[in-house]
Amino acid sequence: MAKTSYRQIEKIETKEKSGYYGTWRRDLCRNYRELLAQARSNSYNSLVKTLASKDERITCRNGCTYCCSHYVAVPLTHGMAIVDYLYDRKELLKQFLSNYEKWRHKGYDISNVIDSTRSQAFSASMPINDIIALTRPPSMRYLQMGIPCPFLVNDACLIYAVRPLPCSGQYSVTPPDWCNPEAGEKAVIYQLVLDDEDLLKILQLTAPELMLYELTLPIMIYKLITEGAASIISSLKKL
Ligand code: SF4
Repeated sequence: MAKTSYRQIEKIETKEKSGYYGTWRRDLCRNYRELLAQARSNSYNSLVKTLASKDERITCRNGCTYCCSHYVAVPLTHGMAIVDYLYDRKELLKQFLSNYEKWRHKGYDISNVIDSTRSQAFSASMPINDIIALTRPPSMRYLQMGIPCPFLVNDACLIYAVRPLPCSGQYSVTPPDWCNPEAGEKAVIYQLVLDDEDLLKILQLTAPELMLYELTLPIMIYKLITEGAASIISSLKKL
């Protein structure tokens, strides 16, 4: 796969920000980020209340990065919001591009397998539990390969404010070291569930095909940076 030059990436950014489409894209990203922050906060507060009623508490701590070697997929809309965040923070964008080259070496092929499996299963309207069962073995292989996310730098997330929902959706109530895939103990993890109302607001903001089109986080971000969202959206409309 040919490496895209930074000059080409700047040209794509200019196109992404131009005209009527550019205004629509900017507004979509801004509104999505606002809804995302509200949805995360609401679901986190609900989880804290639920745990308190069971005398449990979240044990996740700063600098713990065991979650950051998991396979993570993002919908197109979320990917666009991340790229919009990176356009305003060029040093982070360049850091991602440099880390992506290392990630691609180990993570690209297996991620492609998981993405294709998920896409075929969704097209066949397979029940969600069957899709999870189908993708669990390659996802576990991905985790065991120990491939750090290209957004992880010095044990911190470069895009923390706009990180994908799966990244902010899991909380441990057991000692953090139990999340180490090589730990002998089994961690107890709670999943955040978005409130129905928040989920509905997110779905109403964006066309369904933009939320249904998902790729592994690094592949989605690289594709958006090097091709632009406009070309992906127009190819989805032709399907
Ligand atoms: S996006 Fe951030 S939180 Fe999510 S896996 Fe990457 S570094 Fe970790």
